[in-house]
Amino acid sequence: MVNWNEIDTVLLDMDGTLLDLHFDNHFWLEHLPRRYAEIHGEDHAEARHRMIERFRQEQGTLNWYCVDYWSRELRLDVGALKDELRHLIRIRPHVEDFLARLHAGHRRVLLVTNAHRKSLDLKMAHTGLERWFDAIVCSHDFGMAKEHAGFWDALRAVEPFDPARTLFIDDSISVLESAQRYGIRWLLSLLQPDSAREPRTVEGFPAILHFDEIMPELERIGA
Ligand SMILES: [Mg+2]
Repeated sequence: MVNWNEIDTVLLDMDGTLLDLHFDNHFWLEHLPRRYAEIHGEDHAEARHRMIERFRQEQGTLNWYCVDYWSRELRLDVGALKDELRHLIRIRPHVEDFLARLHAGHRRVLLVTNAHRKSLDLKMAHTGLERWFDAIVCSHDFGMAKEHAGFWDALRAVEPFDPARTLFIDDSISVLESAQRYGIRWLLSLLQPDSAREPRTVEGFPAILHFDEIMPELERIGA
């Protein structure tokens, strides 16, 4: 699935890859509609139905991931509402071992996320994962989501990498397809991004349940 000898750069998605997607699914599908209905005095079921339809229309665009966009659209402080659910932010199993091993080795390790800075900051503050990365890249800084073909050149301009020697792990199939079109050689998906949902089948890309399946070797100092 992964030949570590052929990999110099590791690009890692955050939500649904390193962190349990349960937080995000629960936030967007349950918590936000409920709080929206409470705050605006609307019927919950009706508001939820309408919001989910709106989310679907923006799926895969930068707006979909944008806390400020939804705060304006819904006339709510989406960042503050996310904070109400921070107890649901969880690191997926074996992720810290995996990141610690990568960090101890020679490869460059980047967090590459479509998450908005406000979501990213909340999650890093809650999990402490940021210490494991050589850099953290937020697609909002480029004005293009990872699904967008131009994203990869923009990334490469600030963080040079050789696509033929790069591993990219992401739970989103459309994002993996975008990376594949760009020519990234090693691509991997996740079988269970949300721990509250059943594992899924993934077509078109190899997929892991947990990171213990692809642990890199421990490198000896001086080797
Ligand atoms: Mg993801």
